[in-house]
Amino acid sequence: MSETTNAFQIAQAQFDGVAAQLNLESHVREILRWPRREFKFQIPVRMDDGSWQVFFGYRVQHNDSRGPTKGGIRFHTSETMDTVRALAMWMTWKCAVADIPLGGAKGGVAVDSATLTVREKEQLCRGWVGAIHKNLGPRTDVPAPDVGTNAQMMGWMMDEYSKLAGEYTPGVITGKPVGGGGSLGRREATGYGVVYNVREAMKHLKLDSSQTSAAVQGFGNVAQYAALGFTEQLGGKVVCVSYWDRNDKAACSVVSPKGLDIPFLQGITDQYGTIDKSKATAAGYTIEHGDAWLEQDVDVLIPAALESQLTGETVKKISGKVKVIAEGANGPTTIEADEHFKKNNIFVIPDFLCNAGGVTVSYFEGVQNDMNYYWNLDEVLQRLDTKMTGAFHNVLQVSTREQVYMRDAAYMVAINSVVQAMELRGWL
Ligand code: GLU
Repeated sequence: MSETTNAFQIAQAQFDGVAAQLNLESHVREILRWPRREFKFQIPVRMDDGSWQVFFGYRVQHNDSRGPTKGGIRFHTSETMDTVRALAMWMTWKCAVADIPLGGAKGGVAVDSATLTVREKEQLCRGWVGAIHKNLGPRTDVPAPDVGTNAQMMGWMMDEYSKLAGEYTPGVITGKPVGGGGSLGRREATGYGVVYNVREAMKHLKLDSSQTSAAVQGFGNVAQYAALGFTEQLGGKVVCVSYWDRNDKAACSVVSPKGLDIPFLQGITDQYGTIDKSKATAAGYTIEHGDAWLEQDVDVLIPAALESQLTGETVKKISGKVKVIAEGANGPTTIEADEHFKKNNIFVIPDFLCNAGGVTVSYFEGVQNDMNYYWNLDEVLQRLDTKMTGAFHNVLQVSTREQVYMRDAAYMVAINSVVQAMELRGWL
């Protein structure tokens, strides 16, 4: 039988494994292996040509014992209730492991936002909020960007909510544009958070980061700042970046054994993460197939695209040199791939620890909105580094003490924190 790549089944299987190790009672498992609330709704949009198109929107609130639910909105053609459920569940664990007082949620729309005009996109964003606003709010559920959404879209959504609420409510959503209620550092936060985790992992593994190399999957927001931080902060080399080419409708890679110039690549990448091939070739880089990032002789692999990319099949392509997998994406690794990493002693920084930088600065954004007082960039990044470094070492300590895989250790920290909050509130 082929392995499952259904993200929700993977999220539940990961949870079940650790719940058994923690001897959680069955009703506690039942609460946590399903979301508390799920919404699916229609969003009719008048298109620019005058026709109507009806989109499907989702919002899933997994657990709010530690605070208002929190998590992004994804615009992607492959969005389903199950992907949203999985991503919502991982948000609960992410906020718990990062020790920020929020729960887990996720939302989405099944759409390719690159096919929409700016006006259509704005209508879709406003329609999404209109359909679900009664279940959102700074003390209820706070969305944010994810794959296919950006700061401008968060700005429109905040505006729509404020209109419906009858008052300016910046805290209803995070990842807003700077100058429009957003926080400095939010754009870089997820990628830089990945880099702070990699830095700590390298110290632990006694690797000199300036002598290491990495390959990255994806060249969207997370991947770009992870690659930038890896080169600028750690002094390492990024030799391959794989991305989805919108023009070719295929995954491609840009490769340079000498190392890629990341700011240059950012300059030739469109807003959807497609790199201009002719400019990349003119710079001396080679263009290869989409799996090339897996096959490089590097020390670090950074999957920073979508879920279920590292499978029982694709891990066979990974070089024996790889020592660290830093999961910038949510859910990039299947259960079989995890078994492979355990067996081969590859150090995995699990997704909801590794990519928690985004939601951490989202939390800072909410705090700044509440205070109506804004921090400078250094202040934000300093606080982010402190949070990420603390979270990494908490998980590492459990992994060392209990002799468990890093993902299981992260689950132990997160589940214990959520169960404790449920107990303290008298839910159990
Ligand atoms: N979408 C991001 C994530 O998966 C950020 C969520 C947030 O900032 O609320 O972590």
